[in-house]
Order: sequence, then C-alpha cells, then structure tokens
Amino acid sequence: MSDIAASSLVGKGGAVAPCGADGAASAASPTPLRNAGEEMPPAAGQDFLRARIRQDCERRSFDGRVHTRFPPEPNGYLHIGHAKSICINFGLADEFGGLCNLRFDDTNPVKEDTEYVDAIREDVRWLGGDWEDREFYASDYFDQLYAFAEQLIRMGKAYVDSQSADEIRATRGTLTTPGTESPWRNRSVEENLDLFRRMRAGEFADGEHVLRAKIDMASPNLVMRDPTLYRIRHAAHHRTGDKWRIYPMYDFTHCLSDSLEGITHSICTLEFVNNRELYDWVLETLGVYHSRQIEFARLGLTYTVLSKRKLIQLVRGGYVNGWDDPRMPTICGMRRRGYTPEAIRDFCARIGVARAENLVEYSLLEFCVREHLNAVAPRLMAVLDPVRVVIETYPEDQVEWFDMPYSADGSIPGSRRVPFSRELYIERDDFREDPPKKFHRLAPGAEVRLRYAYYITCREVVRDADGRITELRCTHDPDSRGGSSPDGRKVKGTIHWVSASHAVPAETRLYDHLFTSPTPGATPEGVEFTDFINPDSLRVVTAHVEPALAEMPAGSRVQFERLGYFCVDPDSRPGAPVFNRTVTLKDSWARIERNS
Ligand code: ATP
Ligand code: MG
Repeated sequence: MSDIAASSLVGKGGAVAPCGADGAASAASPTPLRNAGEEMPPAAGQDFLRARIRQDCERRSFDGRVHTRFPPEPNGYLHIGHAKSICINFGLADEFGGLCNLRFDDTNPVKEDTEYVDAIREDVRWLGGDWEDREFYASDYFDQLYAFAEQLIRMGKAYVDSQSADEIRATRGTLTTPGTESPWRNRSVEENLDLFRRMRAGEFADGEHVLRAKIDMASPNLVMRDPTLYRIRHAAHHRTGDKWRIYPMYDFTHCLSDSLEGITHSICTLEFVNNRELYDWVLETLGVYHSRQIEFARLGLTYTVLSKRKLIQLVRGGYVNGWDDPRMPTICGMRRRGYTPEAIRDFCARIGVARAENLVEYSLLEFCVREHLNAVAPRLMAVLDPVRVVIETYPEDQVEWFDMPYSADGSIPGSRRVPFSRELYIERDDFREDPPKKFHRLAPGAEVRLRYAYYITCREVVRDADGRITELRCTHDPDSRGGSSPDGRKVKGTIHWVSASHAVPAETRLYDHLFTSPTPGATPEGVEFTDFINPDSLRVVTAHVEPALAEMPAGSRVQFERLGYFCVDPDSRPGAPVFNRTVTLKDSWARIERNS
C-alpha cells in the first residue's frame, strides 16, 4: 500500500477505516481475522480486489457496505487454497469494517456430510475467521429458491425439459456453433408449473426432467445456453432429510444465496468468470438485490495437489493416514504438522491476490512457518541420531539440573530444568573423526561447548567390531559450568545433548513432500498423479528428548535446538511422546561442509 493510502485509510490499530454505510457497517462489530488480542496485520497491498472495493465504497455502491462470505461445499476438508479464500473474504471484511458470513454451499445431497461441516467450522475458526452468528446453509434457502424458480416459470423465463442429460449435452452446441433448442422449450407456463410441482412431489425418476432457464441457445457464452436450474435427485440431504426430491444447481443457488444474505462482493475463483453472466441474469431477471461477483486466481502450490477429488483419492487409497495426515495440504493436516494460523495468514498475505493463474513455491509456505515459529517456539534439546558420550572426569552418580531459558536472547519467555550427568547423547553428526575445515563441533582432541553445561574435549573414540563408533570418551572443564568460558578461552562450537539416563525415547516423524514432482496435478495422458507419490515422504526415527519435552501437551510447537521445529502429535501417550517435524531449520553446517 502506498504511503498516502496508508495514512488516509489505516486507522487505529492498523485497521482500514470502515466504509461507513451511514454507520451500518461500522455499527455492527466487524469480522476479525485474528486471534484474540492479536494486532491486525498491516493492510495487504493495493491489489485489484481492494481497489475495486475501495472504489465501491467511495461511490457508495451498496450504501458503502462491505459484506463478504466464505462459501465452502461440505464435500471434503479445507485445504491451503481455501485458506487463501478465507483470508481474502474474512480479511477484506476486517480491513473495511464489514462482515463475512460462513455459508455452506450444500446443494448436492450425495457428496455432502456433517462430518465435513464440523471440520470446516473448526478450520475456519482456527484460522481466525469469526462469523459470529452468521452461519448459513444454502439448504436453508430451498423453499425460497423453489419460489424463485416458480417465479421464473411464470415469467416465461424457465421451462421443464424432458430430454435426457445426454441429449441436453449433445444439443448444447460448441464454441463455434450455436446450440439447438429443446423440443420442450415452448411448453406453456401452466404445463411447466404442473410438471415442476410434480418433480418436487417425487413423481418422476432421476433424470426424467430438469428445469432450465430460457435464455439463448445461440449465446456465445455456453453457460447461457438454457442452463439447468433444478434436477431430480431421490436422495436424502444431510440437513433437509427426505423433504426434497429436486435440488437446485450451483449457478441458481449461489447468486440467490448471496442476494438473500445481502452480500456486497461475492468473491470466487476464476473458473466462474463465464458464470458471472448467468449470476447477473438470474438476479436481474428476478429483480432482487444484486451482489457483485469478482473473480481471482486460485492458489496452486508446488509438490502438492489442491483438488478435493484428488485429496479424497489420497485418503481413500490409503496413500496417507487420513485427512489430517501432516503431509496433506489440508488445514487440519497442517495444524497437526505444527503450522500456525499466523504463518498461514502471513503466507496468504505474501502471495497476494491477482487475476493471473500462478503456482507458488512450497518453500515460501515453509519460510512463513519458520519465521513465525522462530519468534514463538521454545527451544529445547533432543537428539535424533545419538552417539554416546562418556565424561570420564564427571562423577558417576552425580546429576546437576541446569535451568535453561527457552531462548538465548529471552525473546521467548520461560525456562525449564535439564539434567546433566556423566553419560550423554549427542548427535552422531556432531562428531567427525577427520573433520573438514571450519568444522567447529566435536573431533578427537577438539573442545566444544555443550549447550548451557560444560566445555568438553574428546579423548578417545570407541568402536564396535564393525568399526562403527559406539562411544566417545571425553573430559570436561569443571570451571566452564553453565557453558561459559573459564579463562577467556575461545570455543567456537556449541552442540546440543541430552542426559542418557534421563532422556525419553520419542517416536519422531520426519516428513518430506508427498510428491516427487513439483506439479503432480498436471500429469500427461495416461499418468496418474499418484504415480508421483514420494516413497520417502515419511521416515520414523526414535529421538531421545530431554524430560521437559515429554511433558508437553499435544499440539505444542517447539524447536529442537539446531534440528528444526517439531510439534507434539495427538498420538502421544504419557511417557511416550510422539513428535512431527514441522519444518527443518536452514542448516548452515551443510553449506559449510559443501564448501570446504
Ligand atoms: P469443488 O471442486 O468441490 O467445487 P472447490 O475447491 O471449489 O472444490 P469449494 O468448497 O467450492 O471447493 O470452495 C470454497 C471456496 O474456496 C470457493 O469460493 C472456492 O473458489 C475457494 N477455493 C477453492 N480452492 C481454492 C484455491 N486453490 N485457491 C483459492 N480459493 C479456492
Ligand atoms: Mg467450488
């Protein structure tokens, strides 16, 4: 946002001044997209959506109100693409002092379920979306929609077509040729009303008739060639039960739901650009309140798929362990992985909103996760690949408890007590018998600092019959207690450790991309996206964690010092913690070794 815009629009607490609406929008409490007590992020850039809405506000279209909605279909779990839409819709309401509704677009009884409704509510709320009491269901409007359909029939703007679905498809025409009018197109209003009512009463089988809008079979826009408004479906609906035998189509339902709710800006993804003409036609023809549809480009993300159909395939096909598998791009999967709502919102703000299709690098999402966890995750110690260290100079039965802060600079408040004893584990990788240049960790004869504990020097390497290192015999400098230099002597390296007898073994799940291809969704003919499943997307190791880590409740997010960010999995049991690796740290050591 430019400085001028920022100073004129950003009010107290960083919020954009409400549009006014003669006090209407500003009187109601605006929809926040934040967690309680959290500051609003600086208004996102001056993108085309915000420019449009600002213009509408200035012209006092919609009385200066801003009222958006997030309209999921409850036929699957929400994913990171939906998060973009949630951030846009709730975010705009927040910025412009408006409101955002949660509306379930539940017009397909066959694919929808309350399991999805519950999961969607949880995920939107977790992301910070607050719809207050404005939770709506398209199915709540079925009576009104039916009345609108009869109204269209009476206006001569809709008719019952008795062609089969195949016939309707075949007579639709192409981009270059007009469609053919149905032989039933000129039925009388009375006949149409009678048939439509009998459709509703359940007198006909699925597919026997449909209700179509009577628009123009020669329209250059295929969507306008007498689109279907209602179809017969003898199926129970998860909310309306057996009440209905006919169900309205998306194009008829969505615009009227927007209208009934007084939505000002109906923001949807680009594939609906051709449907906008029909959206406008329905509302204009019926002469009802008219919301404005605006399209934006959907999110594409590398190394994943964001189509519900494909995500369902991953779950049903057993490629992952359910919708909330931490490898899934679903909101619940990311939550379980340890991603934070703040990080996801930051990601959505960074990718912005545009009208051009784009593919965003997964690494940008990981960057946002790291940024946030770096600021908030307590740092504790765990060893993923242990090698035993015996400190010969340390008394056998002695245990010291060090009070260690959650962050070195105090930015993350709190501390915990960590036991130190004669036998420790360190990371196998933190020792090299033949160290490369600039390797500041442990090596024969080299001295290293054990985080917040002591300086130790490696004196001897013990191996098993196969030559594998089993133990490092070390000495310590008692004057370096707490990890501080006793005599100004410089020790470059600091490594993490755990006391061997106090460490708790923890199942630790290390994740990688679920797919080996950056674009698994765009496969050539004959290739399935599941052909690109990464066989190494999950590796399970036993970590040895300091005692405090074993006591953290599920969902806790921490840094394992020098290793990465991890999250306590709900599979954890008392004394048997389970961790998910959320994201790695950038490993500067790997870089140094490559260069040396
Ligand atoms: P379906 O194929 O089942 O229609 P959908 O992804 O469109 O799937 P909806 O439940 O209809 O799912 O989506 C709810 C809202 O989220 C819609 O407004 C839709 O445009 C938006 N949305 C879905 N996927 C993305 C995405 N990848 N990027 C941005 N917005 C998305
Ligand atoms: Mg959709």
